[in-house]
Amino acid sequence: MDFRNAILSNPIEYLKGVGPQRGELLRKEIGVHTFRDLLYYFPFRYVDRTNVEKIISLHMQMDYVQIRGKITRMEVIGDKRAKRLVATLRDETGEISLVWFQGWQWVEKSLQTNVAYLVFGKIAVFNGYLQMSHPEMDLVTEETATGKQFLEPVYYTTEKLKARGLTAKAIGKLTKNLLEQLSPGEIPENIPTSILQQYRLMDRAKAHFKIHLPVNEDDANLARRRLKFEELFIAQIRICRLKIRRQQSSRGFVFNTVGDAFNTFYNEHLPFTLTGAQKRVLKEIRQDTATGRQMNRLIQGDVGSGKTMVALLTMLLAVDNGFQACLMAPTEILSQQHYKSISELLEQMPVKVALLTGNVKGKARKQILKAVEEGEIHILIGTHALLEPQVVFKNLGMAIVDEQHRFGVAQRARLWQKNTMPPHILVMTATPIPRTLAMTVYGDLDVSVIDELPPGRKPITTVHRTEFQRPQVMDFIKEEIRKGRQAYIVYPLIEDSETLDYENLMKGYEEVKAFFPEPQYYISMVHGRQPVDMKETNMQRFVKGDTQIMVATTVIEVGVNVPNASVMVIESTERFGLSQLHQLRGRVGRGAEQSFCILMTGNKVGADSKERIQVMVQTNDGFVISEKDMELRGPGDIEGTRQSGLIDLKLADIVEDRPILEAARASAEKLLQEDPDLSMPENQSLQQFLAAQQGKSQWSKIS
Ligand code: ADP
Ligand code: MG
Repeated sequence: MDFRNAILSNPIEYLKGVGPQRGELLRKEIGVHTFRDLLYYFPFRYVDRTNVEKIISLHMQMDYVQIRGKITRMEVIGDKRAKRLVATLRDETGEISLVWFQGWQWVEKSLQTNVAYLVFGKIAVFNGYLQMSHPEMDLVTEETATGKQFLEPVYYTTEKLKARGLTAKAIGKLTKNLLEQLSPGEIPENIPTSILQQYRLMDRAKAHFKIHLPVNEDDANLARRRLKFEELFIAQIRICRLKIRRQQSSRGFVFNTVGDAFNTFYNEHLPFTLTGAQKRVLKEIRQDTATGRQMNRLIQGDVGSGKTMVALLTMLLAVDNGFQACLMAPTEILSQQHYKSISELLEQMPVKVALLTGNVKGKARKQILKAVEEGEIHILIGTHALLEPQVVFKNLGMAIVDEQHRFGVAQRARLWQKNTMPPHILVMTATPIPRTLAMTVYGDLDVSVIDELPPGRKPITTVHRTEFQRPQVMDFIKEEIRKGRQAYIVYPLIEDSETLDYENLMKGYEEVKAFFPEPQYYISMVHGRQPVDMKETNMQRFVKGDTQIMVATTVIEVGVNVPNASVMVIESTERFGLSQLHQLRGRVGRGAEQSFCILMTGNKVGADSKERIQVMVQTNDGFVISEKDMELRGPGDIEGTRQSGLIDLKLADIVEDRPILEAARASAEKLLQEDPDLSMPENQSLQQFLAAQQGKSQWSKIS
């Protein structure tokens, strides 16, 4: 078995029909460098060449069709600048015009009249007549005449490739050339036989031939299914092995005691009883940190599920074992808030807490850095300023990252270097990740889920209101304020246009002010252009209840906690994605009062937005919403997945192919459980396949 197959590793220009110039283009335009890359350059659909329409039966609702006939006439028409070639094609039922706007000189020379052509193209209407522009023309051969032509694969191509003659069809020819040179033995199997049998998968060589040259739909589908399974299975084997290896090899600090800090706080200062889910997650963390291996755990907990308390108790555990801990949050406001609430909670305890952000400067900064280095500060809270090399800990044992999706993997990895042995890492995210995505993106992390909200919370009532109903919405807010509550009014950030954002927000602010005049009402405003201390002051006024309304852009999206706020009005809801709406809504419903989320839109709403609004109105469940979000937008758009660099699937789609993904995951786990080193004879081919792939992948980068 040779997965480093010499033929397949050949540079693409050596393939018959390519050569240096086209080779260069194939590399640049579609990333095909070798024969192997071309083999893996799969068609995205097929055209049924057995189906030929009669010209009389064509109509404008048709898309791509195939017809057969003879050219009866050709003429070049139009003035100098817009010349085109028009050919008339006739079959026994009627006529249709075929038109070429570009390259027509060449077409005119190559087409012949009065011989039969098989013509394939898209139906269009011009001046009330049906026509085809730039159709594909094939002389009728014996093969096509008898209708034995296979399904024709259609490959993605680009304008530049087409200009060099590399049309979809030409790429198909190259692939055919390649497959003709290969024997099945050159595409050896990499999936163990038992798994092939269990899932009735086509063998690997056959699948590669059939996906490019299928005889019928079934053939194509089975080939596709096999190759998708392979793609996902190999990815899962890699992820699972990485996890096993990490669990075996990466030594970590041992936290073997639960001491004074934890116990005193737990027994005397905890302001509420923990939920079952919080307790369970703490227990998982306790177990992880007692093993002597480095913990790498992800906590997924919906907004308001109480992750901060879990973080605090975890940090106290580190302190009890003689280590320092840090908590990193994505924004200044959020770090300040964590700092404030944690220092208050620890007020009567001998645990030292400090805040470090980009705004802590000069002498204050020097002092903090010194105290951290000397170990006088036990818990350091801050923004990514914590990652800077000047921040040196005496003995960091636990690093917690809040709202993970705002940080890239690379940043996370920098925390590892903050001690001689990497500290334990706890990552907390409020964006629930669909299970399938978690398997793919965070497959190597241990995942805990806080799937329970603190008791006494009433589900948030969500409604959709349009511009017509604005006065009623404002009255409703007044009513809530009268009851002592507070309200957020959030405006979207328009990408690439800070000015527009700002104008939008200001207009909104003036509008709100007109409805809520001083001195009866006070309004805070927070947006990205304000200096940090102003932002902070405005925020604090709202937190303290000095202002009843907070007008803001999405800067308040993440983590802000004002339990007395009971109304969240989201302006221009159309502009927000589902996860973001869910995050924003999560800013209310944090106290015991009934809370409301009002989704404002214009009077007319597009179908897409309507669907998102429906989801929001129907459910408060972050997991349901994230599934839906992924379905609507595709996994690549879910926050945090792109920078993770892990979703690089050619064929499989983790939404559509979820059953295949789950089967692949289950098979991979079972196989590695039985044979962790892949040393059993039946797993040799897989082992060799993986070895041949080493170095090509970026998997080692995951932290
Ligand atoms: P998130 O998971 O979104 O970060 P927080 O940690 O900010 O949530 O907690 C949300 C609110 O719930 C806070 O006001 C917090 O004090 C409160 N809270 C957390 N855990 C509990 C609990 N077990 N019982 C009651 N309230 C809790
Ligand atoms: Mg939080």
